[in-house]
Amino acid sequence: MQVAEFLLGGRRPGWRDGVAWIALSLLLVFHVLQWPGYLFLCVLFMALRAPAKVDCNTAIFDASAFAVLLNDQKGQCCYVNEKWRLLSGLSLQQALGEGWLSAIHPEDRPRVIAMYAAARQGQLPVVEYRFLPGEGRVVWVSSSLLPVPGYANVSCQALICDLTASKRQEAERSALLVEQKEMKEELESILSSSNDPIVAVDMEFRFSVFNQSFASLFFLLYGVKVARRDCLLHYELKSEEDRSNLITFWGRVLQGECFVIRRALHGDDKIIRVFDLSFSPQFNSAGKQIGAINVLHDVTLSAQTERALQKSEELFKAATQSSVDAIYVLEAIKDESWKLVDFDFSEVNQNGFDFLQLHLDDTPKMSFEKAVNRIAYGYLFDVCSDVYFTKTKYQQEKECIGPDGNSCWLLFSVVALSNGVVLTASDISERKQSELALATFSSLQQAILDSAGSAIIVTDLSNTIRLFNQAAEEMLGYQAGELIGKETPAVFHQAESARLFIAEFEKELGEPLPIGSDVFSIQAMRYTQRDWIYQHRDGHAFPVELTMNVVRNQQGEITGYMGIANDISVRKMAEMKLQQNESRTSAILDSLHDCVLSVGMNGLILDANPAALKVFAYDNLRGKSLNLLFPHLGEMNLQQNLAGEIFTRLGVDTQGMREVVAINKEGVEVLMDMALAEVEVDGAHVFITTLHDLTQHKLDEQKMQETIEELEAVQTSLSGSHEQLSQANQELSRLAHLDGLTGIANRRLFDQTLVQEWARGARAGECLALAMLDVDYFKRYNDHFGHQAGDECLKRVAMAIASALHRPGDFAARYGGEEFVLVLPGTDQEGAVQVVEAVLNQVRNLAIVHQTSDVAKVVTLSAGIAVVLPLQGVDPYCLVQAADQALYQAKHQGRNRYFLAGANRLTE
Ligand code: GH3
Ligand code: MG
Ligand code: MG
Repeated sequence: MQVAEFLLGGRRPGWRDGVAWIALSLLLVFHVLQWPGYLFLCVLFMALRAPAKVDCNTAIFDASAFAVLLNDQKGQCCYVNEKWRLLSGLSLQQALGEGWLSAIHPEDRPRVIAMYAAARQGQLPVVEYRFLPGEGRVVWVSSSLLPVPGYANVSCQALICDLTASKRQEAERSALLVEQKEMKEELESILSSSNDPIVAVDMEFRFSVFNQSFASLFFLLYGVKVARRDCLLHYELKSEEDRSNLITFWGRVLQGECFVIRRALHGDDKIIRVFDLSFSPQFNSAGKQIGAINVLHDVTLSAQTERALQKSEELFKAATQSSVDAIYVLEAIKDESWKLVDFDFSEVNQNGFDFLQLHLDDTPKMSFEKAVNRIAYGYLFDVCSDVYFTKTKYQQEKECIGPDGNSCWLLFSVVALSNGVVLTASDISERKQSELALATFSSLQQAILDSAGSAIIVTDLSNTIRLFNQAAEEMLGYQAGELIGKETPAVFHQAESARLFIAEFEKELGEPLPIGSDVFSIQAMRYTQRDWIYQHRDGHAFPVELTMNVVRNQQGEITGYMGIANDISVRKMAEMKLQQNESRTSAILDSLHDCVLSVGMNGLILDANPAALKVFAYDNLRGKSLNLLFPHLGEMNLQQNLAGEIFTRLGVDTQGMREVVAINKEGVEVLMDMALAEVEVDGAHVFITTLHDLTQHKLDEQKMQETIEELEAVQTSLSGSHEQLSQANQELSRLAHLDGLTGIANRRLFDQTLVQEWARGARAGECLALAMLDVDYFKRYNDHFGHQAGDECLKRVAMAIASALHRPGDFAARYGGEEFVLVLPGTDQEGAVQVVEAVLNQVRNLAIVHQTSDVAKVVTLSAGIAVVLPLQGVDPYCLVQAADQALYQAKHQGRNRYFLAGANRLTE
C-alpha cells in the first residue's frame, strides 16, 4: 500500500499512470528482446514520471514571511521558498521531489506523511515538527496544508512558521513558572515563619496573601475570618475607627506611598493592641504596582513601657521643677583612660539655675567643676566625685555665704547614679534659726525647771533619763550630767518595793509584764499620784509623793515619761505620831457594839467604827457624806453646816436619845436610837454620834403580832372550808368527764354511761340504741384549712350533735378524734333512726364549708346505728362493735348517711 502510494505520488490515478504502466510492461518485453529498446523505454518512463514544472507565480511566496513548500499533483515537492530553505538548511535542488523529507527529524517524518494523508481526506491538519538544518541545530516549525486553487499543477502548499522562538519562550516560561512557584513557596514559608502578621492586598483591596499570624490577629480583634480574595472594603469590623484607619492606610500605599506608622488597633474595644504598621507597595518586574504589603509589628508591651518611662520622666521633671531645692543630675565625663574629669549637667531645675548662677545657655556647655568653682563651692566637685566612685550617700549641713552674699545654712545631699550623681542643695536657714530659738527656749525651760521645788525627772520611751532638775539633784544626790542619757531610773528605787510594785501591777493586769519592765514608765502609764519610797545616793530611803505623767509631742504621741517627786518625810512623821494616838481610841471604838461616827461640820464622815460599817453595810464610810445614810431627809444645799442641818432635821440634839431611821447600803431601813456629842479637834468642830440598832427588837415585836393574826385567820377560815371542798370535788369530777376540746362528755364518761344504761336496760327490759358518728373526709378538711380550723369545726359539730338530743336520757360523747357516739336508752330502731337523722341534719345545717369533701359542699357526718335489748352478763361493747361496723357500711355506701345494723345479727 505504501509503495502504491509512493508510486502514485499521493495523487488520484490519471491517464499518465496508465501510459507509464503500459511502458513498464513493454520494458519487460523489450528487456527480453534487446538493450536499445530497453534504454528507450527507460528514458520514456523517467520522462513521464518527472515532476511537473511549477506553473504558478512563485514570487509571492518568496516575499512571504512564512516558509512555503509547494507540491505538485503527484505530491512531489516542486518549490520551496527562501524562508523554507533557510529553516531546513536544504537548497531548492535538494528539496525537490522527495528530497525535502530528509531535512525533517526522523521521528517526526511519519507525522508529516500522515498530515498529507489527512489533507487528502479533506481535512486541514496542523502539525508541529522539527527541521535538522545541521550543526546539531533543531528548528521547531508548525505546518499546515492548504489547497491552492487556480493552479493546475500545484495542489498544496505547506505554510510553515518558525516555532523556535515560541518554543524557547515556552521553555523559558515553564522555567519561570518553576522559579515563580519556588519563590511563592519561599514567600509562604517566610510568611508562616514570621510571628509578625503579614498581609498583601492587590490593587482592588483584596487579600492576596496573608500568614497565619495575620488571620489569628484579625479574628482576635474583630471576630472575622479572613479569606484570600476577600475585599477589605467588604469586611465589617467591630471598630469603625480601625476600619477607616486601615482603609486610609491601604489607600495611601496603593497609591505608591511607603510608610511606617504606630497605631492602636481597638478590636472590639476590649483588646487594644499597639502596632508598628509598615506599608510598602508591591511592583511587578515591569515596574507596575500590583498591590501592597503590610507587616504589623506588635509593640503593645514596649509602647506601655515607653509610656511608663515617659510618664516617670515627666514626673521626675515635674518633681524637680516644683521642688524648692536646687537639683542637679550630673553625668560623669571621663577621659580615654576612664579617669573622671568632670560632670555634665544633664538635668537642672529652675532653683538649680538660680543657685549656681547659671544661665540657660550655659548648660550643657558649662562644666560642673567650673560652675561650682566660680561661686566658691569648689568642694562640691570633690564630694560628687567621691560619691560617684564609692557609690555612697553624702549629706551635710553647711553654713555658707549664699549667692546673694548673705550667710545661710544649706543641706547638701549627693546620691550616686550609675553614670553620675544627683546633687541637691536645700536652704535650711529657717530650720536652723528655729533650732537656735529652740535651744534658747530650752535653756530657759531648764532654768524654770531648776527653780522648781519639786524633783522633776523625764525619761524617753527607752527609759533613758532626759531631764533631771536641780531639785532632783538635791533630793537624790546625783548630778544631772551623770544621769542624763543613761538608762538608770531604777537607781532611785528600793529593789524590794520596785519588785512589790510590779507584782501588784501584774496581779491587777492578770498577766505578767515583760522582764525588765521599768517601774517609772509603768507608774507614768497609770497616771498615778501616790506615795513612794525613793533611795538617796547614800542609801537612805525616804518617802515621796510622786506624780507621774506621760509626755506627749504636738501630735499627741507619747514620747516619754515625767515624774514629779516631793519629799514627804516630815508629814509622814507627824502622821505616824497621830496614828499611835488614834490606835488607842480606835481599840475602844472597835470593841463597841453600838455604831460610832465622827462627822465634820461639812457633813463628811471622818471616821466610823466596825460596828457602824457592819450595820450600814459599807466597807468604808470615811470621806462619805452623812446624808448618804438619811436619803429620806431630802435635798440639802447647806455645805457649811450640813451636819448641823441633818441633825436638826432628824430632831437629834446633844440633850438625849432619839429614835431615827437610817437607810443602809442595801436600801434596808434600820431603826436606831441616836445620841449626839460635839467636840473640838485641832480647832475644828466635830460631831460624835452614837447609834444603837433597834432592828432586832422591832423584829421580835412584829413577829409576835404576825403569829397572832395568822392564828386568827386560820380559825375563821376553818369554818367555811368543808363546803368549798365538796364543791371543788364536784367541779373536779365534772372536769374529768368532759372532753377538753368540745366540752361534751368524753370517752370515760361514755364508758360509765354505757355500762350503767346497759344494766338499766337489762333490768327494765328496754331497748338500748347506740350510734357511732364520724365526720366525712375530715382529714382533707384539716389539710385544707389547717388544724386549728379543724378544731373549731369539731367544736361546732359537737354542739350541733348535743343540741339535736332532746330526751333527758339521751347522751352524746366524743369517742375520739372526729368520732362521736350517741347512747339512746329506751329507744327502738325507729326512734334511733329518727334521732340520728336529726343529728345528721343539724350538722349539715351548720353549713360549714368543706370544698374538698367528695359528698357535699359542707361538713357532713356518717353514722352507724345498732339497737339491742341488753342482757345481763353480756358485754355491752358488742353494741359498740356493731355500731362501728354499721358506720363502716355507711362510709362504704358513700358517706353522708346512716346505716342500721341488722337486728337479728345483733341479738346473736
Ligand atoms: P372518712 O370520711 O373516711 O372518715 O375520712 P376522714 O378523713 O375523716 O378519715 P380519717 O380517719 O382518715 O381521718 C380522720 C382525721 O381527723 C385525722 C385527723 O387529721 C383528724 N382529727 C382527728 N382528731 C382531731 C382533732 O382533735 N382535731 C382536728 N383538727 N383534727 C382531728
Ligand atoms: Mg374516723
Ligand atoms: Mg372521718
